[in-house]
Amino acid sequence: MNGVGADILQPLGADIIRIEIPIQHELKNFNLYLFLGEHPALVDAGPYHPLLEGVVMESLRRAGMKELEFIYITHSHIDHFGLAARLRSLTGAAVAAHHYEKPRIQRAGARLEEEYRCYSSLSERMGFPREVAEAIYSLAQVWTSLSEPCPVDIPLRGGETVRAGDRELEALHTPGHTAGHLCFLERQEGLLFSGDHLMRSITPNPELYCPPWRGEMTGLPQFLASLELLRGYDIKAAFPGHGKAIRKTARRIEMNLLHHRKRLEKTLEAVDSGCVTVWETALRLFPQVRDKRPQVDHFLAMKEALGHLLILEKEGMVCCDRSGEVWRFFTR
Ligand SMILES: [Zn+2]
Ligand SMILES: [Zn+2]
Repeated sequence: MNGVGADILQPLGADIIRIEIPIQHELKNFNLYLFLGEHPALVDAGPYHPLLEGVVMESLRRAGMKELEFIYITHSHIDHFGLAARLRSLTGAAVAAHHYEKPRIQRAGARLEEEYRCYSSLSERMGFPREVAEAIYSLAQVWTSLSEPCPVDIPLRGGETVRAGDRELEALHTPGHTAGHLCFLERQEGLLFSGDHLMRSITPNPELYCPPWRGEMTGLPQFLASLELLRGYDIKAAFPGHGKAIRKTARRIEMNLLHHRKRLEKTLEAVDSGCVTVWETALRLFPQVRDKRPQVDHFLAMKEALGHLLILEKEGMVCCDRSGEVWRFFTR
């Protein structure tokens, strides 16, 4: 591929290049970060697609490199690891990710299909309309086509210091969006490569654990704790997996925490005013999905509503009757 435009390759200083792939979605783009130097490395790999493969390889060529030593994966969503297997074999890179993310990265489509079957089995409990659920879960095959299974050569746990170019990155375990989400912090300049944990204009969706993870169905409490964790670091700028860089990171962290506090209040109001099921609550919180044809936004709305309802239940603000086929929420 010869036509990689200057707008796709953006230098962030002398030794880091952002590879920005635009997409027609509210996420706006995928960002990959290429570190030049003694230990050439990439943070995130993007989805599997031959065009993207060409862009990344051309970016390496332009930077005078043929090989990568490491590919660091922030988390196990296809838009972050889908192309990793291909890049691993083309560049000889070792792939590193949190060990909790191995099932999805190493099994890709097979794992995704299991998860979508599990989501299907939850639909009735959530009051999620069958036709909406079926339409969305049939997308599993599309997602599958955007990823290839990839070995995780270096399983991380968080807390490690790893090499990228001539820099050192600290792996920070920031669960919630997924169980093993990692941010990578370059402490010298206070640069955070934040994956989907911290973005500039949107808040990420919490994980729906299916089957439950350590007794929890939602990653929302972990996500909020991971935001609070970031308060403890000196971060000058954050570079997310989607969208532009964040310069006022402390402000963005506080805004995200406030956003979820407000959403908890709205969720409580929804239950108080008669929304009984998870799906009814989702429609109250996200009325824009009501008249749209079934798409992934419906599923995301359901996950958000469930996450906030389960936090309110834990806080004793709502109770849930699980005796019937549909979970029914009430205020106390
Ligand atoms: Zn993600
Ligand atoms: Zn993403």
